[in-house]
Amino acid sequence: MNLSVQIFASLILSVVVGLILGPDAAPWVKLWVAPIGTMFINLIKMMIVPVILSSLVTGMTGLGDLKKLGRIGVKTLIMYMGTTAIAILLGFGAAMLIHPGVGLDMGAAAAPEIKQAPTFMEVLVNMIPKNPVESMANADILPLIVFSIFLGAGIVAVGGKKGVFLTQLFDALAEVCYKVIGMIMRVSPIGVFCLLVPVVVNNGPKVLLPLLSVIVAAAIGSIAHMILVYTPIVSFIGKIKVIDFYRAMSEAMMIAFTTCSSAGTLPVNMKNLIEKLKIKKEVVSFVLPLGATINMDGTAVYMGVCALFVANVYGIHLTINQMIMIMFTGTLASIGTAGVPGGGLIMLAMVLQSANLPLEGIALVAGIDRVLDMFRTTLNITGDATVACAVDRTERKYDKELLEEANKEREEN
Ligand code: ASP
Repeated sequence: MNLSVQIFASLILSVVVGLILGPDAAPWVKLWVAPIGTMFINLIKMMIVPVILSSLVTGMTGLGDLKKLGRIGVKTLIMYMGTTAIAILLGFGAAMLIHPGVGLDMGAAAAPEIKQAPTFMEVLVNMIPKNPVESMANADILPLIVFSIFLGAGIVAVGGKKGVFLTQLFDALAEVCYKVIGMIMRVSPIGVFCLLVPVVVNNGPKVLLPLLSVIVAAAIGSIAHMILVYTPIVSFIGKIKVIDFYRAMSEAMMIAFTTCSSAGTLPVNMKNLIEKLKIKKEVVSFVLPLGATINMDGTAVYMGVCALFVANVYGIHLTINQMIMIMFTGTLASIGTAGVPGGGLIMLAMVLQSANLPLEGIALVAGIDRVLDMFRTTLNITGDATVACAVDRTERKYDKELLEEANKEREEN
């Protein structure tokens, strides 16, 4: 049985077992089952720091020579960031429409301590780490991201043999992290089961509907993003018929949906863009690998939906400041998310933490994460391809101008 089927089966099983056990088993479940779920959550948390450090540095070094970064780099980054920020907003929008988690009231039972939210200026000041090792030790994500970006830029600037060595080192570290996440994901059916049984035992059948509503909200957010953001970019900037685009993309989208890995889908995605949509190879080989590392619109939709879901579950009313914080860290988090199954779940911790939302909410999301991952990974790789089409078209225009200029110069000479 493949992993997604296993996880889905364990999700169903946990609900069935939880319902059969009923509330009487709560003390026993708390003593023997819940700790195994905590161990699984800790395994995921264990990877937060190494994954951020390695994948962000790798993302930066992927840009190559700092001079080359220029036009294509800036254009690509602006489109990646812009579409990601919109994706979080659409995630919020979908969640506001569906209200996921409202029926699942954990507010009274496990009222979490709400810490005082920092001011915006405090956040900015705290973003700059005084001591990166301290930030890593405390898993302070924002300063760690800032440090990783500087480190990546520094490595690119150094270049030469040393630059290549460090690039390879962080590449290797990132790969190791992806492997370890893969290993952790292998025990995820057990982890999910042990996380969900206590929830079902404590909450009964009313746990089902709110979880279904998260899936529906994430699906609506993803589809809305395709229609409202990708369609206009592909047809107006990329000048490609939407039907042709999705027809060419369908294979990669299916692979993304089933493997839940942007990195794993990359070769198919690149091949189809070059062969079926005739996008220039240079553009594809620069834009897509970068996108598979840093551009995760689906993950961003998921951050928006899940943040609101967790807030609803704990009866917390999000302030505008918290929402801005979620948008900000959500964009950064999706950049730092590894393109592997479950990568986004790790980053969700960071988004929740930044908005002072209870991390325990992850336990609920973890149970259905694989299903959510299918939607978000599909959107993630479609977003990369969309930007590649747009960059390709705008670059061609530039090429034509260059050609005309050169011709004119030649004629004048
Ligand atoms: N699985 C996603 C991807 O590979 C990342 C995530 O978990 O959000 O794109």
